[in-house]
Amino acid sequence: GEAAVDRWVATTCGYCGTGCGLYLGVKDGRAVAVKPDTTAPVNKGHLCLKGLYEWKTLHHPERATVPLRRRGKEMHPVTWERALEEVGQRLREALAAGGPEAAGIYHGGQLTLEEYYAIHKLAKGVLGTPNIDANTRLCMASTVSGYIRSFGVDAPPGCYEDLDVSSLIFIFGANPAEMHPQLWQRILRNRKLNGAKIVVADPRLTLPARVADLHLRLRCGSNIPLLYGLINILIKEDMLDRDFIRRATTGFEELARAAAAFPPERVAGLTGVPAADIVAAARLFGRSPSAVTVFCQGVNQSSQAVDTVTLINSLHLITGKIGRPGSAPFSLTGQASALSMREIGGGGSLPGFRNPENPEHRRQVADYWGIPEERLPRRVNDINRMLELVEDGRLKVLWVIGTNPAVSLPDLGFSRRQLEKVFLIVQDIFYPMETAAFADIFLPGAGWGEKDGIITNSERRLNLVRRAVNPPGEARDDLTIISQVARYLGAGELFAWPGPEDAFRELRELTRGRPNDMTGVDYALLERLGGVQWPCPEGGRGTSRLYTGCFFFTRPEEAQGYGEFNHPEGRARLWAVPYTPPPEVPDGEFPFWLNTGRIIEHYHTRTKTKRIPELQALVPGAYVEINPQDAARLKVAEGELVRVVSRRGWIEVPARITEVVAPGEVFVPFHFGDLDPGERERRQAANHLTGRNVDLLSGQPMAKAGACRIEKL
Ligand code: SF4
Repeated sequence: GEAAVDRWVATTCGYCGTGCGLYLGVKDGRAVAVKPDTTAPVNKGHLCLKGLYEWKTLHHPERATVPLRRRGKEMHPVTWERALEEVGQRLREALAAGGPEAAGIYHGGQLTLEEYYAIHKLAKGVLGTPNIDANTRLCMASTVSGYIRSFGVDAPPGCYEDLDVSSLIFIFGANPAEMHPQLWQRILRNRKLNGAKIVVADPRLTLPARVADLHLRLRCGSNIPLLYGLINILIKEDMLDRDFIRRATTGFEELARAAAAFPPERVAGLTGVPAADIVAAARLFGRSPSAVTVFCQGVNQSSQAVDTVTLINSLHLITGKIGRPGSAPFSLTGQASALSMREIGGGGSLPGFRNPENPEHRRQVADYWGIPEERLPRRVNDINRMLELVEDGRLKVLWVIGTNPAVSLPDLGFSRRQLEKVFLIVQDIFYPMETAAFADIFLPGAGWGEKDGIITNSERRLNLVRRAVNPPGEARDDLTIISQVARYLGAGELFAWPGPEDAFRELRELTRGRPNDMTGVDYALLERLGGVQWPCPEGGRGTSRLYTGCFFFTRPEEAQGYGEFNHPEGRARLWAVPYTPPPEVPDGEFPFWLNTGRIIEHYHTRTKTKRIPELQALVPGAYVEINPQDAARLKVAEGELVRVVSRRGWIEVPARITEVVAPGEVFVPFHFGDLDPGERERRQAANHLTGRNVDLLSGQPMAKAGACRIEKL
């Protein structure tokens, strides 16, 4: 109750990319409660289960409180000074002996904008290493490449308000009911108030698929033919905005030629979706006054993911459904601040969406940082490449910050061997955790609720997270730890910020005149308005929709400012992408499609949610969903322990017999590691099964399109 709390601290939920506003209740210096912020523009007074219980992570007994150093099999407490000195020394020695590729950093997607900035400044500007990547490689990398290909910049064009007003919500490879519950509520409100139609493309019978007006139950790995099928019908039945295509895009003829090869009957054969449903979906999309396509990991983690994003964008471009209220191709980010990561130069760019291969961009950043330009890497190595470098003995020291690759990386047998081999520094808020089992040095970080900073949600909205309580024991926030390591590397003056807002002031200057201009933003503005959407060069609420001006210009030279597409010609590009079936498809030995994903009760590798009894009790372990027809054929009963086997490895989990998966497909939630503290060992991590096939354009692993078999035990 209100009386039991000393003060309420306004902050933002630290889980999914929705970015819900909430208040954290503090009593005697401890977090004791949460309540939704009724004025927050995103969630308007509602929270989901995870947001409601997030405060329980703050004072958990397994919070890491002191730095640790490995001696033999055991980890022992050491002072911060010793730990930091050794981190600095190891990094320095590795680089001196093996060059820039000998050290690397791999971090999470739930840090603050300021922390990302510091990590990337350290990696690129001080260490000069190309080995810098984030777990967003597993999550949004394909969207980044897809947006850049179509629009010239990695910027989600729409905003959440589009979900409130659109006449058609096309949910493609996403399950907002479980992953972005507050956005799903907004979609349902739109349907109730305005009669919006819902179309879902998903191999699983998810909650959105069950309530949709039309469910396109495509097979795993068949996104490209389905999208081409829709484009084929839009063109054939002339449901296009030809004026928009002419004025604002290039490449239509090539796209039309490619789509002509995908008539509905052929697409039905490739996807398993009835031809009549493909035609119906295209007509719903084409005839709706507005449409939002919401997409997530069913796109990003599938085969040809970047091509899929490109075709989704094209669907909107050829129908003119972009840059207007209720119309956008809208990627939902899974992690609270995944978009912040992209803004500061993750995914291979430099801050302000600068191109590291552009000499002018390199000079701008190097001059601003006061470092020699040649130190900046021209290309970065993604985590896949970094693990190969470890295997080859070239990457010697890896620093993992706020992520749990020992559970989340694909092909865990391979990935864990590399974590074993490298000198590993792990920085996290809990100890023990799976990746820390491989650590040589462990640094205790501060978590959500214990530090100030900005996190950017899926609609480009910068939100504040606030320090409500102190970190436990000797734990320090990541910005402080990174700055202190920089001191041991002799670059302390580049990180001498008195606080996070000073780091933000430095980085925001690097966005001046860039597509994500934040120069009009400061913490006071964010606090006052409850979030601001970039670009925001002049204060105020920023920019809710991009490309609003693309309806008005007629000549490329008029393409300036934020209203137009960011390719040099000012137009969006349509692409005729090839179609290649996934590299691994079911066969006689591995007859099932393997799909992996998330569920509402847990978050990522459960580092936080397994420590919240209310959530852990709801789903305490992994399982495999099997269709009743397959279960009957295999003689598998509900709850029976089965072995799921792929070319990489195996897990043993109970069967959940359900129509949610189609015959011939199985689904395993990816949240679970093999060992829970205080529990028996269970080989249940879905990534024992997944492979290292990646999208060649984005480097993103295909966690949703593999093959496996089910064995009775
Ligand atoms: Fe947090 Fe996402 Fe739930 Fe909102 S919808 S409370 S941001 S987990």
